Amino acid sequence: MLTAENTKKWMDSFYRKIEENKDYLSELDTPIGDGDHGNNMMRGMDGVKNSLAQLQDPDLKTVLKAIAMGLISKVGGASGPLYGTAFLEMAKKCSETQKVNELLSVALAGIKKRGGATEGDKTMVDVWSPVAQSNAITPKIIDDAIASTKDMQARKGRASYLGERSIGHLDPGAVSSGYLFTALLETEG
Ligand code: ADP
Ligand code: MG
Ligand code: MG
Repeated sequence: MLTAENTKKWMDSFYRKIEENKDYLSELDTPIGDGDHGNNMMRGMDGVKNSLAQLQDPDLKTVLKAIAMGLISKVGGASGPLYGTAFLEMAKKCSETQKVNELLSVALAGIKKRGGATEGDKTMVDVWSPVAQSNAITPKIIDDAIASTKDMQARKGRASYLGERSIGHLDPGAVSSGYLFTALLETEG
């Protein structure tokens, strides 16, 4: 169950993981992208931190919306509107259900609709999808999903410009999504 409180803790934990792995995320984005994913996500998470700090005793919907707006307005890259859409969709749904897998399902549908990617296209969808479909998220589900992007050929985003040369590299957005869900595992409950 998501609450305003555990969602804020979730974002604190995600912030720290992005901060620790900023350079690694940008390195992953170098051979198959433009080398900015770590910096994009760090800017986004600074935006999220600032938006959340301005709220006084917010409900879950307000928290989820603030996260979305922080990401959409600050990330700059393709990943910003996609992560932002995910949190906006969760904000829309959360008055009806606070169950994690139900919220992640609407988030995933939003990402797919917004970016046009599906499973196997070597994007963040390849991590969001197995995680959203599992009733109990585990570190193995997350790690296997991230690893699965290595052998895929990118069909969406900048990496798709490389065609077959995109094979053999992890997708940076899949890796950052993995941090998001590891952070969720650590804070949920
Ligand atoms: P940019 O490519 O604009 O520099 P980022 O580097 O921040 O943006 O993000 C790249 C990541 O965004 C990719 O690794 C991939 O996971 C994700 N991505 C890009 N395009 C799409 C898309 N159409 N659908 C889903 N995810 C996408
Ligand atoms: Mg990039
Ligand atoms: Mg870029």
